[in-house]
Amino acid sequence: MNAACLAVRMRITALEAIPLRAAFSRSFSFGTVDRTVSHNVVLKLTSDDGIHGFGEACPVGAFSGETQESVVQLLEGPVREMILNADPFQHAALVKQLEPRLHGCPFTLAAVDMALYDLAGKALGVTAATLLGGVFRERVVMHGSVGWGVAEEMAEAALQQLAYGYRSVKLYAGRGDLAADLRRIETVRSAVGDDVGLIVDVNGLWDFATCRRALGPLRDLRVSLLEQPLPPWDCDGLRWVTETGQVDIAGDEAIYTTFDVAQAGRLRTMDAVNLGISKLGGLLRARDCAAVAFSAGLRVVMGSVLELDIATAAGLQFAATLPTLPYASYLIGPMKYERRLGVTAFEVHDGAVDVPRGPGLGVEVDPDALAALDLRR
Ligand SMILES: [Mg+2]
Repeated sequence: MNAACLAVRMRITALEAIPLRAAFSRSFSFGTVDRTVSHNVVLKLTSDDGIHGFGEACPVGAFSGETQESVVQLLEGPVREMILNADPFQHAALVKQLEPRLHGCPFTLAAVDMALYDLAGKALGVTAATLLGGVFRERVVMHGSVGWGVAEEMAEAALQQLAYGYRSVKLYAGRGDLAADLRRIETVRSAVGDDVGLIVDVNGLWDFATCRRALGPLRDLRVSLLEQPLPPWDCDGLRWVTETGQVDIAGDEAIYTTFDVAQAGRLRTMDAVNLGISKLGGLLRARDCAAVAFSAGLRVVMGSVLELDIATAAGLQFAATLPTLPYASYLIGPMKYERRLGVTAFEVHDGAVDVPRGPGLGVEVDPDALAALDLRR
């Protein structure tokens, strides 16, 4: 190999972990979680040529034990130790080295992965999607979402969401008893009419008997996708539910690694895998998961944990690179926050979002917004 190929292109010279005081415009309930504030951490890497690469961790208790404090500690401790002086272009090797130190901490790893793509993309003047192999789409179709709550309020919120042009809306179930949850979904269905797709996410809260009883009514309510209806460990139950073919089944809390995707394909426990980049540990790992999914005949769906602008931009970069994307995506996090981080507004037009075209992740972080949200100040 030509020695020039192995030359270091740039070095990471500084790392800053910035915990945010971020709040949602209104409380958002899903699973057993009520989110009014969000514990995001912005990771800022600086290179020897003065380029800044940004990543974002958005730890959510339903997916890992990470907290804002643990993310900051890991970034400022072992991550700093391992990546200072490293070449961000040696991306896969860096992620591989970090994985054992960040075991069970995908949100922290995701922030590093995003920041590496942002740095490398900015250095070359190309998008992260280009670094991943290029795009299949320049806009990504989104669905709206309505948190779990009072049926009539959910119906009203769903109607408000449709103003953005969404053709489908995500609802949550599993916290209440089944009859009440079905009434909630029915109320929303009546309000939005038959032409709007409904996605229902149970976050693994049903037991098998509840799930079995729910399938017929959900099919009759024309629910197009049912996400994680059973706990991730209930492979036999998930396989049975998927085999009935009444509603498409997606796995989310069951999917963190390529091994999880391979198992889902082998056991046919789902039709689709949710490839939210934060819980997977970033774009590189998501790309591997997508490759395994496609080879196993599984569909992919782009989820999120309602991150702010940086992680949402990373999700858009990744969504653009997927050859097929049969369901609407959920990359609308910034819309749910009181204050956003990007210089340009994050916008949904006609139910879709443009994939950012700027270098790296394509999001220009507003220093004033970042300073205003900085928890340390
Ligand atoms: Mg989910």
